[in-house]
Amino acid sequence: MMKLVPRYTDIADNFAIEDQPSSVATPQLLLWNASLAKQFNIDIEPQLRASTFAGNEPQQIKAVALGYSGHQFGHFSPRLGDGRAHLLGAISDDKNQLWDIQLKGSGATPYSRGGDGRCALGPAIREYIMSEAMHGLGIKTTRCLAVVGTGEAVYRNPPQPGAIVTRLASSHIRVGSFQYLATQGDTEGLKKLADTAIERHYPEINTTGPERYIAFLDAVIKSQLDLIISWMRVGFIHGVMNTDNTLVSGETIDYGPCAMMNVFDFDTVFSSIDKQGRYAFGNQPNIASWNCARLAESLIALINDDDEQAVNLMTPIISQFSTLFNEQYNQMWAQKLGLAGQNEDDVELVSKLLLLFQEHKLDYTNTFDALTESLNGDELPEELTQWANAWQKRCDENSYNVMRAANPRAIPRNHIVEEILAQYNQHGESELLSDFLTVMSNPYDKTPNLTRFQEAGLNDPRYQTFCGT
Ligand code: AMP
Ligand code: MG
Repeated sequence: MMKLVPRYTDIADNFAIEDQPSSVATPQLLLWNASLAKQFNIDIEPQLRASTFAGNEPQQIKAVALGYSGHQFGHFSPRLGDGRAHLLGAISDDKNQLWDIQLKGSGATPYSRGGDGRCALGPAIREYIMSEAMHGLGIKTTRCLAVVGTGEAVYRNPPQPGAIVTRLASSHIRVGSFQYLATQGDTEGLKKLADTAIERHYPEINTTGPERYIAFLDAVIKSQLDLIISWMRVGFIHGVMNTDNTLVSGETIDYGPCAMMNVFDFDTVFSSIDKQGRYAFGNQPNIASWNCARLAESLIALINDDDEQAVNLMTPIISQFSTLFNEQYNQMWAQKLGLAGQNEDDVELVSKLLLLFQEHKLDYTNTFDALTESLNGDELPEELTQWANAWQKRCDENSYNVMRAANPRAIPRNHIVEEILAQYNQHGESELLSDFLTVMSNPYDKTPNLTRFQEAGLNDPRYQTFCGT
């Protein structure tokens, strides 16, 4: 069985509310992450996996639903919380790190606000395959252990088969978790939550008092920066970067309306609900910074009794975001292009390249792959030959390896993900899945079935993603 450690019950009375998953009709195991199960020493017998991860074995667990707030598309909701998820507790991995284990789609909770607490099959599969792909790409992310079909319909328009995802995260502490306690004026709870987050994610912080929480803010900002840079390196668009979907650990969470950019364009948006382009590809750093500012606001009571003084202390920490971002962003391009050392003309070299990308509608992933392999003697894309004269002078004998590590050969292409979801919806399985997962577990290497997953697909302007409700 799993050894579960209780989580978050000591933070505040209304922070982790005891609540059990509601059982489902006929649980069927659709996806099982064997390597993750091994890493976490989860040795549940195969015939018990479906019912356990459907929440049909309530005697085994003492689940909770967590409260959190959230700025959703800029608008604040004080009480969101786990409306369709149950946190079972924490389990230990092979390095003795504790990870939260959560069922998503496991029935209504005190936070459901009239929702059914359920999840449709498509979004459940999307969450599994996207988080596996992101993990393969070397990007910090929550993981999925299992997807279980419920044997029940969820009433969406049109009705769809239901499913439950088992999600693992180093924690489920969100910016919105801090907002939740701050909004209630619960300074004691806030302190406990911050200390828990520090202990778990930033144990190197060993100061006390206000400095401790300023160092925490600083550490969260730096992990958010790393995360956004890694998203931009591979062309990932999260699509719903609300403060409730921002983990202070710096892991990617919630794969609802996410998508991958094909043709390079900073303004790329796929989510049907993002009418203003708030979460467009190129706007992600601004939003991450904005979300960190919301965290800072929530921490005020831990910094100083006087709000103004607290804000003065935190402002320099928040404002370093743009400077640090620019530094790391330039480094990211330098790696994607294998540039040796630093040169003052590099910024111009990159912007000229990006203009060519836009002018010729070049696929982001495949073109960087082609540039990388051009150092190995492959032909360059015609549109770039002239630009490449200046670029090649900036390369040296290490460039190929640096570029290969920064530029994936495969990404989870939108059209492939959609094909897998369609196959699951039609047949309850997908013949594409296993090759996809194998390629995505090694996306920087030449794997046997790679080419099938490299096709850019149509850059269909009508391609839209929908929030996974
Ligand atoms: P998400 O879009 O998954 O990040 O969810 C945003 C908020 O809506 C969270 O508080 C969810 O728990 C809640 N929510 C989403 N779908 C449902 C549902 N089917 N039933 C209840 N709550 C939901
Ligand atoms: Mg969410």
